[in-house]
Amino acid sequence: MPSFLGIPTLLGWQLWYLQTATVMQFHLNGFRPGDPAITPAACVPQTDRLPASVDVLIVGSGSAGLTLAAQLSAFPDITTRLIEAKSGPIEKGQADGVSCRSMEMFEAFGFAHTVMREAYWVNETTFWKTDPDDADSIVRTGRIQDVEDGLSEMPHVILNQARVHDMYLDVMRLSAHRLAPDYDRRLDRLDVAETGTHPVTATIIHSPADAAPTEEMVRARYVVGCDGARSTVRSAMGLELKGDSANKAWGVMDVLVVTDFPDIRQKTLVQAAGSGALLIIPREGGYMARIYVELETLGDGERARDRNITLDQLIVATQRIFRPYSFEVKNTIWWSVYEIGQRMTDRFDNAGDAPNGPLPSVFIAGDACHTHSPKAGQGMNVSMGDSFNLGWKLAAALQGRAAPELLRSYSTERAAVARRLITFDQEWARVLAEQSSGAGNTPKFQEYFVEHGRYTAGVSVRYEPSQLIGEPKYQHLATGFDIGMRLHSAPVVRLADAKPMHIGHTLRADGRWRLFLFADAAHPTTSGSRLAQLCRYLYDNPASLLRSHRPAGEDIDAVIDVRGIVQSDFRSMNLGDLPILLRPPKGRFGLIDSEKAFCPDLKNDTDIFDLRGIDRCNGCIVIVRPDQYVAHILPLDGFSGLSAFFRNILTSQSS
Ligand SMILES: Cc1cc2nc3c(=O)[nH]c(=O)nc-3n(C[C@H](O)[C@H](O)[C@H](O)COP(=O)(O)OP(=O)(O)OC[C@H]3O[C@@H](n4cnc5c(N)ncnc54)[C@H](O)[C@@H]3O)c2cc1C
Repeated sequence: MPSFLGIPTLLGWQLWYLQTATVMQFHLNGFRPGDPAITPAACVPQTDRLPASVDVLIVGSGSAGLTLAAQLSAFPDITTRLIEAKSGPIEKGQADGVSCRSMEMFEAFGFAHTVMREAYWVNETTFWKTDPDDADSIVRTGRIQDVEDGLSEMPHVILNQARVHDMYLDVMRLSAHRLAPDYDRRLDRLDVAETGTHPVTATIIHSPADAAPTEEMVRARYVVGCDGARSTVRSAMGLELKGDSANKAWGVMDVLVVTDFPDIRQKTLVQAAGSGALLIIPREGGYMARIYVELETLGDGERARDRNITLDQLIVATQRIFRPYSFEVKNTIWWSVYEIGQRMTDRFDNAGDAPNGPLPSVFIAGDACHTHSPKAGQGMNVSMGDSFNLGWKLAAALQGRAAPELLRSYSTERAAVARRLITFDQEWARVLAEQSSGAGNTPKFQEYFVEHGRYTAGVSVRYEPSQLIGEPKYQHLATGFDIGMRLHSAPVVRLADAKPMHIGHTLRADGRWRLFLFADAAHPTTSGSRLAQLCRYLYDNPASLLRSHRPAGEDIDAVIDVRGIVQSDFRSMNLGDLPILLRPPKGRFGLIDSEKAFCPDLKNDTDIFDLRGIDRCNGCIVIVRPDQYVAHILPLDGFSGLSAFFRNILTSQSS
């Protein structure tokens, strides 16, 4: 068999790679020559002048700001601008760890396969310590698989943050808006009015290289501060980062080295008694490595930059830890010195705590609301997760598809994630310090590492029950799709064209909700099929949620996209026998969308019903949010529960 729990063995890699390829549909409203990834320009082209008013103003083009801009660029009717104080995109340095979960999100944006091709894949992690028999040497004490089998169809990879940014910039550039950051523009001040359609006024200093600085004003419905650890937006909101102050300086450098250290191409933690700890992160391209190296203990309130630490000091500290192995730096691409501290803001928006108080109009995301050690590789990932959570909510509120009260859930959901991140990082720093002092127990440390693998892979985030997350009353109908957690994809075969693919790759970053309807035991062509009955209700009944939440004139799947997964092999079914909802007519020609129905991948022995614990007798409905999180699980005959769930979130479009 080429696969185990949905993760391929060597024989299955080629097939698996194809299965991860992005799902694209085009030519619905007529043939268009050229690259289908380029959306026709639908708006007035962006010029170098900022408009007087926008729907969303994003401040900062780091990973949080670009994720949000890429998401909002998918909506031609929403005007977004992204201002950035720097003169252009970063080219090197900063974060490089991309978790499995972020890769799943990249798939929704359509560039996971590009990252996979270019990145370093973290397959193993090795551990080294001072040799108990020779204090001047280090020895390997363990090696473990980096990502647990079956955790995600995506690998854990390492790629320069700058390249990830490039891919987001491409998504924005190919969108209908042809959106690009407005560089050389620094947010100076924010003023928030209590009323008005565009309550936030941003004062911006534009400093082009070839002209004197000028002041610009932009009014926005919403402003999102993705402006990093020293956020101006956060200060304007009167919020501050609270938490532990740092007391340990670390160095980080991206280098091209010649070394005889055998694990230079493995992610490696070295702990040399008396000399400190270092972490090797092998990098894309086969030659470069990132080294994080422990430096000095800082005094109270002291900053690492106050010590004037030099690159040579980083290299000498690294060479000392690596003894007896050589470590000759041939070229330093980037380096920096920083201190670790774990801090976060109390909330991520400007709404008060009163449930009926004012609605939020200003938000912060990423490093602007939480800072922590970079070594657990969470900075870029959690920041992108913040914006992905916020993006679809802003779009739904701006398009009138949901009431703006939905926006309150951003701070609630993501502050809880940040709190867990801070706790994890404090614990991680403690365990690491114990190890460096020689007091730690290595097998225990490795155990800790393995135990927290799901966390670092980014797949353990769980949103609590709320308006957006149902109670787990029907969790038993699909035990492998945890309510509140991201949809754990599994292989399927698309019925119409027998294409092997991942069900999760039907989720695009397009702001739509998804209903996955898993068939019950009755054949879907028979009158006793609960799947068919639900499909008929959803398609035919004018009061059904598909019709009541859909703006007039739009396709049946414009707001809620329904996919069906039957139990039979694809060779024993005809698409034409399935309910019309699973092969709906769409677009100006009424073309049939034949990519809604799927079968289990029986050939590779990866039956999604078994892999994800679906009740074969009763089937079920799995509701998935636009950010890929499982919102609810309901029985196939739970028509009223399904309608009630969406009535609480989406506005009625029929009146
Ligand atoms: C110098 C540096 C080194 C780092 N090193 C590492 C590392 O080694 N490993 C690791 O995992 N993580 C590292 N990080 C953190 C990692 O890059 C962040 O966690 C991640 O990028 C979070 O993204 P963000 O978008 O929230 O913030 P950032 O990536 O910091 O982006 C914020 C953006 O906002 C812009 N900005 C700030 N103020 C304004 C303003 N007033 N107006 C307009 N624009 C503004 C900034 O120029 C910047 O482009 C580093 C960050 C920095 C800044």
